[in-house]
Order: sequence, then structure tokens, then C-alpha cells
Amino acid sequence: MSFITNEQANKMWSSVLGRLELRIPRPSFNTWLKESKGISCDSQFFYVSVPSAFTANYLKERMIGILETEISDTLNNEISIKFLIEGQLIESNEQVDDDIPLSVSLTNPSFSDVSHVNENSSLNSKYTFENFIVGDSNQLAHSGAKTVSEKIGVVFNPLLFYSDVGLGKTHLLHAIGNVAQKNGFVCFYTTCEEFTNKYIASIQQGTTEKFRDFYRSVDILLLDDIQFLIGKEQTQEGFFHTFNALHMKNSQIVIASDRPISELKVLEPRIVSRFSGGLVADIQSPKLETRIAILKSKAEKIEILIPDSVIEYIAYKIKSNIRELEGCLNRITAWFQFKDEEITLDAVQNILKGPISFIPNEMISDIEVVSAVSKHFGITQNQLRSRSRHKMTVLSRQVAMYLLREETDLSLAAIGKILGGRDHSTVLYGHEKVSTLLKKDVEFKNTVLAIKDSLSTEN
Ligand code: ADP
Ligand code: MG
Repeated sequence: MSFITNEQANKMWSSVLGRLELRIPRPSFNTWLKESKGISCDSQFFYVSVPSAFTANYLKERMIGILETEISDTLNNEISIKFLIEGQLIESNEQVDDDIPLSVSLTNPSFSDVSHVNENSSLNSKYTFENFIVGDSNQLAHSGAKTVSEKIGVVFNPLLFYSDVGLGKTHLLHAIGNVAQKNGFVCFYTTCEEFTNKYIASIQQGTTEKFRDFYRSVDILLLDDIQFLIGKEQTQEGFFHTFNALHMKNSQIVIASDRPISELKVLEPRIVSRFSGGLVADIQSPKLETRIAILKSKAEKIEILIPDSVIEYIAYKIKSNIRELEGCLNRITAWFQFKDEEITLDAVQNILKGPISFIPNEMISDIEVVSAVSKHFGITQNQLRSRSRHKMTVLSRQVAMYLLREETDLSLAAIGKILGGRDHSTVLYGHEKVSTLLKKDVEFKNTVLAIKDSLSTEN
């Protein structure tokens, strides 16, 4: 019996993958987990589809512990995993008819179109410019991508995106491809791992001509994860010739890298020197407002009403990775879909804690808070601690009280002491004053959020 739909199971599994992707070496992740899909779940098992029995066996032998912990954690319920090969249950001793969840059949449309991937181009139609939120951190990459999608091979060739993981490089590659394809260009998206595997296979099978012709026939080649080529001299050679041939005929090349160019220098110098002829656009971690906008747009898309306080909490806590933001959202969605409960900040904080916390554990010190408040309001730390009753100073001091109470484990008395020897009732009053203002005054709320955001060492 199936308790959840394909789509829910797939979302849950995506959130598990999102977290694992950051913890498992990329080649292993790509080889064993990337193609897996959450299919369904009943009282005992969570069903995961993988492309081959070989993969299923490997995952069963090597990774089952971590996978079951993660999915149990996501569901908040101890559950085992059963693997399906392309949607089919494999154990021969299973009572197949009874056990396969209703929604597992490959003919089920929501399963077969889950990946949104176009077979010929490998383009994923799910990643578009329309659902890419632009902020300071990704503006250059976004405008480079937009320009290239409209002027194939003419400007910025190659275009190279660089950022840490989970910040939108793959999204932009597909977005470019989707626009260009609509305009009639032949596009092909591939990861460098796949490129390498095909290249090696072509050498083994003596089909390098065919390999070359294929890659050279495209108008736009979208190459993901170029850092994979580091240390693979032979493939670099193949890549260099492909690159040159495409460049010569003004085909567009777009590349994404998880490493800065300085680290890519270990690639052959002749390859790296080619990059400098185009545009290198880096993507930074998004600022708070961008993170909030991303969460809001994703929540809207999955049609789930999440209060602003919850969105702000997640955006504030998860700073460096959009995939993790999505993971949190998926977890909340998965959780509340089963319950007739209102989504509240308290509930969400509990759900996100769990045994494997979604929320990084940051210890913020009183020194950081006092310094951030002083910097933000342009008031010296001595003034904050002084007896001054100047309106702005009083408000800044109360914001410091509020943040110290919210962000540290300090007692009211200790906070009073830090802020110039005030008693605990003054701190309590200051905290309440700021809490009330936060509810009434949006501008003030944004100021406090910005100070909170600057407390992190990650931004
Ligand atoms: P990378 O390739 O840099 O590791 P991805 O492109 O896979 O990152 O992005 C991770 C997830 O975050 C994807 O689901 C992607 O759609 C989403 N994402 C990244 N940047 C944005 C953005 N600016 N707006 C909306 N979603 C984004
Ligand atoms: Mg990527």
C-alpha cells in the first residue's frame, strides 16, 4: 500500500540527495546516487529506483546505513529502503503484486516524466531563467548567461561559471540550453565525468571519429563540472581538440567549475589560456534578501503557504547553499503534507533540528553582536555601554539586548553586564520593545535581519 505520491517521494529523496551530495565525494555521488529517484513509501519501506542491479547492490552493500538514516530522518520515522531497478522490484522471493506500491509502475506518468530531461540534448527543462532568482551574488553570471543564450557563439566564448556547490551553475547551463534550443540551435549538456567516460569508451571501441563528430556537430556545448578533468591528461587532450574545433566554427561553449580558475591551472595551460578569451563569471553565496526571494518563489511553486517568519528563519540560518535551502523546504513540505497542522516557526524549528541537523550550529559571541550593532548604527561600543539616553543610542542598545538574548545563551543579567551594567529587567524591557517593533515596522525588521545576517562568519 502506498502512503505518498511519486512526487512527494521524489521530493523527499531529492532532499536526502541534496544533503548527501555535500558529504560524499562527487565522483561517488555521481556514479551511485545521482540517477536514483524516490518512488514511494509504505509503513515499512521507502522505495528508491536506480538504473541497474549493479548500482542497487553497491548501494545495499556500501551505503545503506547512511541512506536509511537520512530518509528515516526526513520522514521522522524508522524506515528501510528497498531498491527498484528502473521502477521494478528485483527480489525474486517478493510477492511482487502485493508489495509494489501502486504508484511504482513505469507507465505512471508522474514517474516517467519526473526528471524533465530531454533525451537528445540532456537538457533539463526544469531549469529556466524564469525560475532563477537574480541578486548581487549571481548578477554577472546571470547576465552573461542571458546574453550568451541570445547571441550564441558571438560574445563571451567560452563562458565559464565558477562557484561553490549548490549556487546555480548547473541551473544556468540548462537555462541557456533551453533558450537556445527553442531558438533552433543544437545544444548538448554533459558533465565532464560523462564526457570522460564516453571518451574513454570511444578509445576502447575505436570509435573516436564518431565521438569527435558528435561533439563537434553541436552549436552549443554545455560542459558541467570541469574540475573533474583535473589529473586526467588523456581526456584533457580530447577535450582540448573538441574545444578548438567548436571554437573555430564559432559554436558556443559554456563551462561550469566548482573550483576557482586558479585551481584549474593544473589543467593543461593551453586549455586554461582558452578560458581567458571569454568571460569568467563567479557566483557568490546569496545575500539574505536573495535567499528569502528564492525560498518564497519555490514555496509558491509548490503551492505551500509558509509564513514569512519561517521563510526568514530558514534564509537566515542557511547561508551558503541554495540546494540546502531547497532541502529544508522539501523537508517542511514532506512533514506538513501528512498533518492537518498549521506551519509555525516553533514546529519548523523542531522539524529541522532532528538527529542530523539541517541547521548549522553556530556559536555567536557577545563580542560579535555588540560589534555588529555598533557598526550598523554607527554608534561606538562605548556609547552602547554608556548611560546616554539619546534616542538612537537607546534603540541600538535595545537591539543589542534583543540579539544577545535571541542568538546567545547568555542570561539576562549577563547581557545587562555586557551592556554597561544594566539590570535584568532593563534587558527584558529592551527585548520586548524590539520584539514589538519588529512586528509593526518592516524597515526596522529588515535592519535587524541584516544585522543578524552579518553575524555569520560565512558571509
Ligand atoms: P551548482 O551547479 O552550482 O552546484 P545547481 O545549479 O545545481 O548548483 O543549484 C542547486 C539548486 O539550487 C538547484 O535546484 C537550482 O535550481 C537552485 N538554484 C540555484 N540558484 C538559484 C537561483 N538563483 N534561483 C533559484 N534557484 C536556484
Ligand atoms: Mg552543478
